[in-house]
Amino acid sequence: MFKISKKLTSLPPYLFLEIDRAKRKAKQEGRDIIDLGVGDPDQPTPKHIIEALYQAAQDPSNHRYAFDQGMPALRRAIAGWYERRFGVNLNPDSEILPLIGSKEGIAHLPLAFLNEGDYSLVPDPCYPPYKGGSILAGGKTYLMPLLESNAFLPELKRIPVSIRKKAKLIYINYPNNPTSATAEKDFYRRIVEFALKNKIIVISDLAYSEMSYDGYSPSSFLEAKGAREVGIEFHSLSKTYNMTGWRIGWACGNSKLILALAKVKSNIDSGIFSAIQLAGIAALEGPQVHIKNMRALYQERRDILISGLNSLGWGVIRPKATFYIWLKIPKKTDSIKFSGFLLEKANIIVTPGVGFGKYGEGYIRMALSLPKERISEAIARLNKIL
Ligand SMILES: *Cc1c(COP(=O)(O)O)cnc(C)c1O
Repeated sequence: MFKISKKLTSLPPYLFLEIDRAKRKAKQEGRDIIDLGVGDPDQPTPKHIIEALYQAAQDPSNHRYAFDQGMPALRRAIAGWYERRFGVNLNPDSEILPLIGSKEGIAHLPLAFLNEGDYSLVPDPCYPPYKGGSILAGGKTYLMPLLESNAFLPELKRIPVSIRKKAKLIYINYPNNPTSATAEKDFYRRIVEFALKNKIIVISDLAYSEMSYDGYSPSSFLEAKGAREVGIEFHSLSKTYNMTGWRIGWACGNSKLILALAKVKSNIDSGIFSAIQLAGIAALEGPQVHIKNMRALYQERRDILISGLNSLGWGVIRPKATFYIWLKIPKKTDSIKFSGFLLEKANIIVTPGVGFGKYGEGYIRMALSLPKERISEAIARLNKIL
């Protein structure tokens, strides 16, 4: 009875169990916890977006099943946003698919392309659904280590020919969670070349394109010549507009890939709540001043955290994008033990690097989703215990 499927059993283990338990216990004990673990913006969704939802929710025509493939007006708004932001022209009818948050699309896509035994090329450390989605689809994963020595980019030439032959998908994610690394146009050109040569589909996750600092503006994979022939890009309103709880994102790029993902999804869900789609249009087409403010806010927090860590002798480089700091930990310990130590001794929660994959061992991730006063307090506490 209740025998769990092989696929589910073979998913990577959930390594945060012990930390989660310790976290809950610490909170129950009423300890003053500084949680640098959550990758979730702490700022509210901008008011005009909430107002658009409120208006749309009053209209009974929005209470029914939505179009599976997203409202045409939303797809046009996404096309307009891509054009303004990246100079990439997308056909709203065939090259854009709204999603119930980008995570579901990322996790569902392998169902469209993997057969038993096929491989996904997955960066490690990474956002967990790249592995999870591939394994649940019956595929295997080949891990591409993201190493500091290679600026946390995958070394394509190290991928064995035997694996390339069995690989159907390659995942890339820049600006990167959890390492905060960024990629330039040259990297995207090399990915397109690799994909064409080996007949592998590129899946680019661009969730953090708007969270950037010091005037840096991340590029889209779709800006690279030939990208649209080999790939698809995922984007999300979650981080850009503080809308993680709303569940709205999209996939865009190659029309055959979009069509296949839409077919998978038509068997699984029935679209995004129409009122949320209308709020999404308000986000993409409304005033964008909030993005400027968001960058200034995280940049200030980043500077406080980095200067603090460096004053403790850490030697951290200022990331150009994302709201994560990827920190090397002392060699004599591991990331789970070190995270436990910080929680026990300083009431600070961080994410152990190994939770993002085995090549994340030796690191912890801190997120800038707390007010600067709390970040300063975290530095003061670290100063006491280290
Ligand atoms: C937060 C995040 C997303 C966005 O997920 P949604 O499902 O759109 O909320 C996608 N990719 C990465 C790497 C992320 O960290």
